[in-house]
Amino acid sequence: MQSIYQYTLSQLQNTFIELGLKKFRADQVYEWLYRKDVFDYELMTNLSIDLRNTLSLTFDNTLLEIEERQISSDGTRKYLLKLEDGYIETVLMIHPYGKSLCVTSQLGCNMGCTFCASGLLKKQRDLTADEMVRQILTVNHDINEHVSHVVVMGTGEPFDNYENVTQFLRVINDAKGLAIGARHITVSTCGLTDKIREYAHFPLQTNLAISLHAPNDELRNQLMPVNKSNNLDTLREAIRYYIDATNRRVTLEYILLENVNDDLKYARQLAHYLRGLNVYVNLIPYNTVDENGYHQSKNIQKFKDELLKLKINATLRKEHGTDIDGACGQLRAKKEGISHS
Ligand code: SAH
Repeated sequence: MQSIYQYTLSQLQNTFIELGLKKFRADQVYEWLYRKDVFDYELMTNLSIDLRNTLSLTFDNTLLEIEERQISSDGTRKYLLKLEDGYIETVLMIHPYGKSLCVTSQLGCNMGCTFCASGLLKKQRDLTADEMVRQILTVNHDINEHVSHVVVMGTGEPFDNYENVTQFLRVINDAKGLAIGARHITVSTCGLTDKIREYAHFPLQTNLAISLHAPNDELRNQLMPVNKSNNLDTLREAIRYYIDATNRRVTLEYILLENVNDDLKYARQLAHYLRGLNVYVNLIPYNTVDENGYHQSKNIQKFKDELLKLKINATLRKEHGTDIDGACGQLRAKKEGISHS
């Protein structure tokens, strides 16, 4: 059965018309699902019993099952959600400006970044658009509130699942649906340069973040195998292209790993690499993954100060939920039986 959550309103209208149903019925259903948080067709009281029956035979309306829920002292909630063929993680973070949800885009990941727990499990498949929408609806339902922001920074590489991720963005941005503003949405990529160029022409004005983590090819090759086919020169050209096409500032993520990429000489190389680009650097304290031997840098503030001194905008990402299995992919890795020493 097809999921009701895969469509924008206009797509659902077309689907209804193809089924011989009235177009305005799609508007009613959309309002129940996304505005009134009613997912059970039986409770959609302005629809005829016949229509409710047709819907329940035609469109799957299930949310995702919550297998596990960890709640941190800072309010961060980490969910392990169950799919037919595996588990995914979704993380809710509380900010002064609202609640944001970190959405997973693939079941596992093939990018192989050496510091990341998500890559402990290879990609089984791409998530569908509705599976990403359902992550949001499931959490909204759980907290009895609508999240205001979405970051596509969970397990997976969103640009390795481009069609489904962009469809997901259209659905959650739909003005008659969840209506999450494009400016409240951030997509994070490890740097697939062809897709960065394609995304420059995606019509929604979302934010783009790029995981950089190293300012030279030698180091980046070690940390992120994707750099071998998308090296730093190619990446900078893609970033420039994206900024020229969209006129939007790009975020560059840089995890600080002790004695790996946190020497101040790397801050200087980074400043040199970024010179003239409309970007800012988001420095990320490393969330230790037991398996791989990296440690959080003690040099974070100095690294930031060095960038600021060199006139590069830099901010420090606040850590969330460090008292629960905070690092990306850890909860799931545990569930799937990848041991933590
Ligand atoms: N594949 C995408 C999105 C998922 S990763 C990307 O690479 O951007 C989201 C962000 O979390 C990336 O910047 C990633 O490098 C970072 N990350 C991964 N493991 C981490 C860890 N243990 N601690 C802190 N950040 C981590």
